[in-house]
Amino acid sequence: MNEQYDILGTMVRDYASIYWKETKEKTQQRKSKQVFYFSMEFLLGRLLVNNMQNLGIYHIARDGLQDLGINIHELEEKETDAGLGNGGLGRLAACLMDSLASCGYPGFGVSIRYEYGFFRQKIVNGRQVEVPDQWLSLGNVWEIRKPKHAVEVRFYGEIDRRQDEHGRIHFQLKNCEHVRCVPYDIPIIGYKNKITNTLRLWSAEPSSENLPRDKDFHSYLNETRELCHGLYPDDSTEKGKLLRLKQQYFFVSATLQSVLRNHARRNPDFENLPELYVFHLNDTHPILAIPELMRLLMDEYLYEWNDAWEITRRCFAYTNHTVMTEALERWPINFVQTLLPRIYLIIEEINRRFEKQVFEMTGNYDLARSMSIIKDQMIHMAPMAIVGSYSVNGVAQLHSDILKADIFNNYYTLFPEKFFNVTNGITHRRWLVFFNRHLTKLLTSLIGNTFISDASDLSKLVAHADDPSVQAAFLQVKQIRKDILAKYILAHNGIAVDVNSLFDVQVKRLHSYKRQLLNVFHIIYQYFKIKNEQNSDIKRTYIFAAKAAPSYRFAKNVIELINAVAAKVNNDAIVSKFMKVVFIENYDVSKAEIIMPAADISEQISTAGKEASGTGNMKMMLNGAITLGTLDGANVEIHELVKDENMILFGLRSEDVTRLYQEHRYNAYEIYRNDANIRRIIDSLKDGTFGPESAFDEIYNEIIYKNDEFFVLQDFNDYVKAQQTAAIWYQNQLQWAKKCLLNIAFAGKFSSDRTIRDYVENIWQLKEIVEYED
Ligand SMILES: *Cc1c(COP(=O)(O)O)cnc(C)c1O
Repeated sequence: MNEQYDILGTMVRDYASIYWKETKEKTQQRKSKQVFYFSMEFLLGRLLVNNMQNLGIYHIARDGLQDLGINIHELEEKETDAGLGNGGLGRLAACLMDSLASCGYPGFGVSIRYEYGFFRQKIVNGRQVEVPDQWLSLGNVWEIRKPKHAVEVRFYGEIDRRQDEHGRIHFQLKNCEHVRCVPYDIPIIGYKNKITNTLRLWSAEPSSENLPRDKDFHSYLNETRELCHGLYPDDSTEKGKLLRLKQQYFFVSATLQSVLRNHARRNPDFENLPELYVFHLNDTHPILAIPELMRLLMDEYLYEWNDAWEITRRCFAYTNHTVMTEALERWPINFVQTLLPRIYLIIEEINRRFEKQVFEMTGNYDLARSMSIIKDQMIHMAPMAIVGSYSVNGVAQLHSDILKADIFNNYYTLFPEKFFNVTNGITHRRWLVFFNRHLTKLLTSLIGNTFISDASDLSKLVAHADDPSVQAAFLQVKQIRKDILAKYILAHNGIAVDVNSLFDVQVKRLHSYKRQLLNVFHIIYQYFKIKNEQNSDIKRTYIFAAKAAPSYRFAKNVIELINAVAAKVNNDAIVSKFMKVVFIENYDVSKAEIIMPAADISEQISTAGKEASGTGNMKMMLNGAITLGTLDGANVEIHELVKDENMILFGLRSEDVTRLYQEHRYNAYEIYRNDANIRRIIDSLKDGTFGPESAFDEIYNEIIYKNDEFFVLQDFNDYVKAQQTAAIWYQNQLQWAKKCLLNIAFAGKFSSDRTIRDYVENIWQLKEIVEYED
């Protein structure tokens, strides 16, 4: 079976390679501007179905295989997920790549060919256990090794300064360590338009010519191997690990060297670099690309500082993904000095000139210091990104507004022209058309299939939302999808869930700001209520899936609590008649493809102001779920479209949250003391209801002793009311279906095709390579 999968995959790849070559040739011939999307993460998931569908050969292949007695779905299951990402940020990168090609724009994604992807999660005795993800162990049919395009990247060493006869100082690195970087290319196939771009993943190998003199070959070999060993399993806390810094420089240096080498072959100089390339930085992780481009232009191609800087700052654009200050990347100076001595000098000089510029603009020395890239013996990556780029964008309107008003306010005041918003999106082909065929079939029967290449046509569904027969048909589709998920849950969790119950879904990384805890507290509240009343308004199935960073103790404790509550609830003879709680192990793209289509309620309950955008919210909206959420991230834009009648809002607004932080008036203990329901829930963490007395201390301490940083208790009662609204709405099934249909109808805005067009128009300025099929 694996062999059959390999053969099919290889055939698909070879078929795509014709278009791949054509796209490259056209881009070269026409000197089309290209985007290079630098990202430490690409959470691709599986590619077989997506690639065959985009090539328009899925149905032929399916029928052909059937004639041979082979079930294509069984082959599909043989593919391992490419899990080169932690969550939302990496999945966004993958969706953007799909839409870039599908909208007909040329470009590359660039990253690292990690030997191990994001860890696989097992739940053992209710707790998370991390297992390495050996995603390459059976090979990867999509990649092609390109040794001809290898380059060398250098680490460590000392700087040698030499002055030439014109008085110009030349910098050279001596005694550095060389690593050979070999690219593996993966085709990114556009939807039925023949355009095929490249995802280039760099792999580290020992250099064949420049071996270190002061190190034995064995340690050199090991260090080189280690470089691409694995993805850091954390997207929001800074690990301060030298290896991660090495990874960051490794792939940006390799990419820029190969771009410049290629450019130099075809152009007399680099003046036109910004007309031919935009280097997009997905968060600050690849930000060393800025000083690296300066280094290459000056040290290798002999540009003067001012000319090099003019080219550099016109090439870069940066996307910010978080306002959580602890997640803003910083590196100790000595790390960079040791590992990348020349890069450090360049950063220092960028900073010196920037401070001077701010002082000249404002006359305010303190301000210039406070905006500095180098402070407290640390290099601050976000300021460097802002200084070195012509564009800075947030990922949803609210988030972009917060960047301007709050964390980047000083920069915005001085450089307002750099700031943009580009609201995130998801590729609606993967997340609806290919993985929810049942719903797609209903939609095409109503509104045709133009929405597949133009998601705004989903709005045609508005005209059908009031039709009871369409509402009934939608409910039927939802039922089929809930059946599929229920079968999965039975097979993997051994829990029989009622497909007529409301499927209440919260699936995403486990993080305190995402507030899975608020959800669990409500479940505990319901548990006590049903135990007491022996009855309930509606039946519910609470579905969770989430990985916690291995070192994040609070998050792991929440997973334990979810599983402990699940065990209690599911085994209670009375309560389990009305509710079930399910934790689905190892959340990844393939799991999301099963879960999203089955959701009735989409839980998007982060503390307002903390979730930059969210994309899980978009996936579930597109599959006909109703969002129950706070006014946070892209929920704000969902609400603007579907209004109060079709979304359930609750909780603090982001202004309220800011005020509560500023005024220091929030007192979680007071709420605990004065609210009997809340007291009962919190006490249940300690009184043995769900486990030994100290089992949930991480959670208890967070709420009671650390004053509930994310306002779980503050928002609790409003959340309970929102859940009651959901129950009332759900009881009128046809009206419910109407709301779901309207959600689908308005979801077109959240296609990543729209996101790509926003980037192209406002930031990248690319032109389509027109090649649509007739
Ligand atoms: C979409 C997606 C995410 C992001 O979910 P959010 O709810 O936006 O945090 C994370 N992981 C996977 C596997 C996804 O598909």
